[in-house]
Amino acid sequence: MRDTIPVVKNSITGTLGNWMSPDDLDTELNMRFPGCMKGRTMFVIPFSMGPVGSALSKIGIELTDSAYVAASMRIMTRVGKKVLKTLGNGDFVKCLHSVGAPYPLKEPMVSNWPCNPKETIIAHLPERNEICSYGSGYGGNSLLGKKCFALRLGSILGRREGWLAEHMLILGIENSKGEKKYFAAAFPSACGKTNLAMMKSALPDYKITCVGDDIAWMRFDKDGKLRAINPEAGFFGVAPGTSMKTNPMAMETISRNTIFTNVAETSDGGVFWEGLEGEVSRTTKIKSWLGVEDWHAEQGKPAAHPNSRFCTPAAQCPIMDERWQDPEGVPIEAIIFGGRRPEGVPLVYEAFNWQHGVYIGASMRSEATAAAEHKSKVIMHDPFAMRPFFGYNFGHYLEHWLSFQQKQDLDLPKIYHVNWFRKDKNGRFMWPGFGENSRVLDWIFRRVNGEDCAVQSAIGNLPRKGSLNLEGLQEDVDMDALFSIPKEYWQKEVKDIGKYFDEQVHEDLPPEIMKELRSLEARVNSM
Ligand code: GDP
Ligand code: MN
Repeated sequence: MRDTIPVVKNSITGTLGNWMSPDDLDTELNMRFPGCMKGRTMFVIPFSMGPVGSALSKIGIELTDSAYVAASMRIMTRVGKKVLKTLGNGDFVKCLHSVGAPYPLKEPMVSNWPCNPKETIIAHLPERNEICSYGSGYGGNSLLGKKCFALRLGSILGRREGWLAEHMLILGIENSKGEKKYFAAAFPSACGKTNLAMMKSALPDYKITCVGDDIAWMRFDKDGKLRAINPEAGFFGVAPGTSMKTNPMAMETISRNTIFTNVAETSDGGVFWEGLEGEVSRTTKIKSWLGVEDWHAEQGKPAAHPNSRFCTPAAQCPIMDERWQDPEGVPIEAIIFGGRRPEGVPLVYEAFNWQHGVYIGASMRSEATAAAEHKSKVIMHDPFAMRPFFGYNFGHYLEHWLSFQQKQDLDLPKIYHVNWFRKDKNGRFMWPGFGENSRVLDWIFRRVNGEDCAVQSAIGNLPRKGSLNLEGLQEDVDMDALFSIPKEYWQKEVKDIGKYFDEQVHEDLPPEIMKELRSLEARVNSM
């Protein structure tokens, strides 16, 4: 058990994963799987996570009774005979999926969507290289290459083999001199990964290219450079909020060969969601995701489900990086953490060093959103944006991250924290975000190049006054407020994080992380 989840303090409920004994799991699976596909078509999907044949890639075979899953897997991963050919006698991950609705149906199907929420179980068996998923047909619960394989099993393999499987986008950034870098960034679900990975830079001096928008597999190469591949071949992105204004690259990508789920439909055969108001003609009629004909915003309900998604081939994205399928991976020079922090957390700050950076990842928090299971707007702990995706004990995960600072000759990336979501007194975002986030990437780019454009603060290095390029910024931004570090807020933050570590990670917390927390506390107290 302790390999899988931290031993929590006293009888507190653990939030860093669930564990079940192998015997109990066998019982649960045997109650569900025999006969579960009756009357349905079973699909066999050999798939490769990562470019077919790359040394960094891994193979899975998914059995599923959902045609929707089969079609989506064909977009999200590389599938088919070519995968079987490279398999040889090699290892693969066994992925078993059923929507859990054999015929004859016990209950009438809702919205033509077979599933079995009461009996849903998603189980990972690392010893058997196996994933079993029953009862759910959506997202990471059913596209088993994604969160189950690439993150949960992947993180276990990563620890065993000395690499990292992370919930991170990968982007390329090139300046007008042709100097190019790659950054990886971890944000919790629905906090802007897809948008950042495909952003259109507001700074004309920079070109952003996309390697991946959700998952990174990263390994230090023999020269000590951290190399990353995107194990996926498609994007499974949040639809609402995506528009020509916020993410034109995504809009172009989804113009064809795309599966939309839980979005609204237009009378001319198109799709609609919140954020596209300006992009449909007024005469177009909209049918909501729940099937309400002639939907209007005044009815008070959203047209599309807040977690409705597009599933679209990465190769269709106009700004895919020329090396996005490079089997060697791309060299990562900065790692960025972030989340939705309506209060107290500045637009960007830099870790003092690797260990402090690992602390920053461990202390990540974010306002709960539609993709998460929590409805109210609370600030949830989501370390490394991996809270739902750790394949093994989070304390051991931290040790794994910390271990790289002991290794000789590694070119450790610099680590940052960003927050696009700070709000003013009136509840409005203080920073325009999206393409304007290129101004933050520019500052990071220059820091990585060793430019002296930072000042120390209690929580990390901040941009020196005037060093964030604001040229051409249309909006009025209160930079002092955006970068303020309220002492009382951070004193409370330190307490909250301390309590979280003590309760949830308890004796599995590496002493280095506690040391970082204590230093932060001392710095904040003497502010
Ligand atoms: P992902 O799930 O992490 O890939 O997140 P997405 O990129 O799909 O974004 C989730 C939501 O956050 C969408 O509604 C976006 O419009 C919104 N979003 C993304 N980037 C920004 C930003 O810089 N500022 C603001 N205010 N919203 C953003
Ligand atoms: Mn995304």
